[in-house]
Amino acid sequence: MSTTDKPSHFLEQIIDKDLADGKFASICTRFPPEPNGFLHVGHAKSICLNFGLAEKYQGQCNLRFDDTNPEKEEQVYVDAIKEDVRWLGFQWAGEVRYASDYFDTFYEWALHLIREGKAYVCDLSPEEASEYRGWATKPGKDSPYRTRSAEENLDLFERMRAGEFDEGAKVLRAKIDMASSNMNLRDPILYRIRKQSHHQTGDKWCIYPSYDFAHGQEDAIEGITHSICTLEFQDHRPLYDWFIENLPVPHKPRQYEFARLNLNYTVTSKRKLKKLVDEGVVSGWDDPRMPTISGMRRRGYTPSAIRKFCDMIGVTRSDGIVDVAMLEHAIRDDLNENAARAMAVLDPLKVVITNLPEGEVQEMTAAAHPNRPELGERVLPFTREIYIDRSDFTEDTTLSRKKFKRLVLGEWVRLRSAYVIRADEVVKDDDGKIVEVRATLVPGTVGENPPENIRPRGVIHWVSATQGRQAELRIYDRLFTHEAPDRGEEDFMKHVNPESLAVMQAWIEPGLADAKPEQGFQFEREGYFVADRLDHTAENPVFNLTIGLKDTQGK
Ligand code: ATP
Ligand code: MG
Repeated sequence: MSTTDKPSHFLEQIIDKDLADGKFASICTRFPPEPNGFLHVGHAKSICLNFGLAEKYQGQCNLRFDDTNPEKEEQVYVDAIKEDVRWLGFQWAGEVRYASDYFDTFYEWALHLIREGKAYVCDLSPEEASEYRGWATKPGKDSPYRTRSAEENLDLFERMRAGEFDEGAKVLRAKIDMASSNMNLRDPILYRIRKQSHHQTGDKWCIYPSYDFAHGQEDAIEGITHSICTLEFQDHRPLYDWFIENLPVPHKPRQYEFARLNLNYTVTSKRKLKKLVDEGVVSGWDDPRMPTISGMRRRGYTPSAIRKFCDMIGVTRSDGIVDVAMLEHAIRDDLNENAARAMAVLDPLKVVITNLPEGEVQEMTAAAHPNRPELGERVLPFTREIYIDRSDFTEDTTLSRKKFKRLVLGEWVRLRSAYVIRADEVVKDDDGKIVEVRATLVPGTVGENPPENIRPRGVIHWVSATQGRQAELRIYDRLFTHEAPDRGEEDFMKHVNPESLAVMQAWIEPGLADAKPEQGFQFEREGYFVADRLDHTAENPVFNLTIGLKDTQGK
């Protein structure tokens, strides 16, 4: 969030005014996920907004699980969501809250509506109910059960709670207006029978409140001053307001809607992400290709970059699609500034320095970061045999200096943080493939310019063949090849990129083996990589490609 005093979006303007008018002494927001999957980048926007507002205005933000649907909810999701919020750098006020903490109150409030003649038990089957409901241009008609007496309704509702009826046999509905132009007001369902254990309440309940009957009341109970949600709930606001007006709530929250985050090349729906997990398209919710917070984390995205991105895209009331390149740009910027530099050779070609004796190890030093001296230095062992990248050498002596700033047979190149060398000859296998370059180093060129007659074409990276280590690199690409994977006619699963993961072996400078899991690096001239959170060890180093050095997917 911005820390300037100027409001940066319409919600800040509203809050500024509410505080100036003395409507509230301080603000209270909440982030209310349903624990039916892992959080994704869209949720990050909502988290940054709600927690960010609380931070900016020194108010409080609650974390509340909207756990009204036991069928799809699980404790693992609760745990993952808490971890994700904390990882993004936010802390909720007090204990974690659950909608299910308030089930007793919701039940009392349902009884209240029944007694007031504003709710009734309905026996229509789901098919019948949908027919009675009508559609946008056709008014619905009253259920034949709408005129039941309060006594009868109280009796039936209590028996629903006692487990006397089967799932689907009865529901409790609000008595509002079957002819309303707002479908949400056509006697919406308040309670359903669900003979299902709940991750928080166990077997205490066999009836569960609908999301709509719970959501606004949770905010009322918690004293939420600004209930922020996405635009698709705008049409639900009249219903939430109806509940608030007709129930003995301790506080009247007000709902404000903002545009959800849509990203191209990305799906942001827990249901669809779950399908990718369940069908084994990815290795799990935290697969580095997933747009989940835990996936981005494992990919090497940083909390600060994600927060910066959420800041950049802003908060508006009009739907749009954000270019995923903007997210990638934020990551790249952050890593460029903060990630230590290191060398890794992805496609190794051996170079033998013939004027360096076998067994000799010279210690070169290099800054961990070109403009961050506080990050210290690293030691690079230089030996007779080293690896350079195959693409950094050519026998073609006709290439101009401008076009090929690397090693050419008979010419010089600088090895980064080490010597200038000259390629003298090549060794080929029976197929004519170059298997080795034999070279000589120019003495006295470590950190010093060579004599004037020696003109290196450029600077390339390298790793000692005898002191370097091997590592597994996981090279990730976008998970979808289509710009709008789930917005066209075709099933989004058809647009999965079959080449979104390539695994390869690389040579890395030895110090990298000691990287801590989740530590990010710029492998110079190659890209940003992170030590895998789960699989990386000093014995078996594993690095994930976070993002390339430049946007190569640009239009
Ligand atoms: P999904 O469709 O992926 O399941 P959801 O909205 O059902 O998303 P919830 O757990 O109900 O998921 O969402 C918690 C909060 O996050 C809500 O306030 C919701 O509005 C917000 N949110 C969800 N998706 C986005 C998004 N793409 N952009 C911004 N906010 C979002
Ligand atoms: Mg939802």
